[in-house]
Amino acid sequence: MPEGDTIFRAAATLHRVLAGKEVTRFESVYPALTRVAEDRPIVGRTIESVSARGKHLLIAFSGDLILRTHMRMNGSWHIYPAGARWQRSAHEMRVLVGTRDAVAVGFNVPVAELLTAQTLAQHRQLRALGPDLLSDTGGSGSSQSEPFDRLEVIRRLRARGGDAIGDALLNQRVVAGIGNVFKSEILFVARIDPFAPVSSLSHAELERLVAVAREQLAGNVMSRSQTLSPAIGRRTTRSLDPREKLWVYGRGGRGCRRCGALIRSKKTGLDARLTYWCPACQPPHPQ
Ligand SMILES: [Zn+2]
Repeated sequence: MPEGDTIFRAAATLHRVLAGKEVTRFESVYPALTRVAEDRPIVGRTIESVSARGKHLLIAFSGDLILRTHMRMNGSWHIYPAGARWQRSAHEMRVLVGTRDAVAVGFNVPVAELLTAQTLAQHRQLRALGPDLLSDTGGSGSSQSEPFDRLEVIRRLRARGGDAIGDALLNQRVVAGIGNVFKSEILFVARIDPFAPVSSLSHAELERLVAVAREQLAGNVMSRSQTLSPAIGRRTTRSLDPREKLWVYGRGGRGCRRCGALIRSKKTGLDARLTYWCPACQPPHPQ
C-alpha cells in the first residue's frame, strides 16, 4: 500500500501542474464515472485543486464536482506532457484527466468516483479516517490547512488498547497516512516494541510516537519535493525507493545502524505484512 507521503507528493505534483487549468479531455473505463461525466461534463471545467486526504486523492473541478480515487495496493497516478509516451500500458489506464499541456493518468486505480462537496462531506470512508499526519505541514498548495489534532490520535489509539501498536498505527481510522514502511521506521526511531499492546504504553510514549510519525512523514515530503537540490543526494539513482535510507525496513538479518544488533522481521496479520525491528533498541515492552 502506498504510504501517505507518496499520495501527498502525488497530489502536490498534480496540483502544481493542473490547478487553474481547463480540462480538455476526460476518460475512464468505469461506466459509473462516464455516466456522471455525460450528465455533468467535466471537459470545459477548471481544475481547482488536487489534494490528499489519508490515502484518498481528490481532484476538485469547478462547478462542484470532485473526483475521488484510492490507490489500494497497485494504483498510481502519472503525469505526462501532452502527447508524451506513457510508461505504462494503455490497458492499465482507469481514469484520465487532460489539459492543453498535460495529461494525468490513473493506472490500475481500483476506486474512482465523482462526488459533490456535499457527498464528499458525508462520505463514509473519508469521515471514518483518523487525523491526517500530513495535514497542516505546509507541503501542498491545496486544502491541507486543517490543524493536526494530536490528542485525537492518542484518543483513537487508546480506543484500540488491545491491538499491537504496530497494527494500530496502520489503521487509517486511528491515524491517516502510515503505510507498512513507515510503521517499522517510526517505531524504531521512537524505540518502541512493535508488538506492545497500546494499553501498555504511557501517554508520554504515545505522544513521542505521534511526534516522530509526523516528523518522519513531513520530512519525507519536504526532502522529496526538493530532489533537484544536490545536497539531498538522491538524484544519482533516480530511485524513489525510500529503502536505501531506512533504519530497519527491508533490513532483516543485517546490523542495526544504531547498535549493531541483527534486525529482525516477522510476518503479521491476514495479509502477512512484514514488521522489522531491532530487538536491542526496541526491547519487549513491560506489560
Ligand atoms: Zn539497535
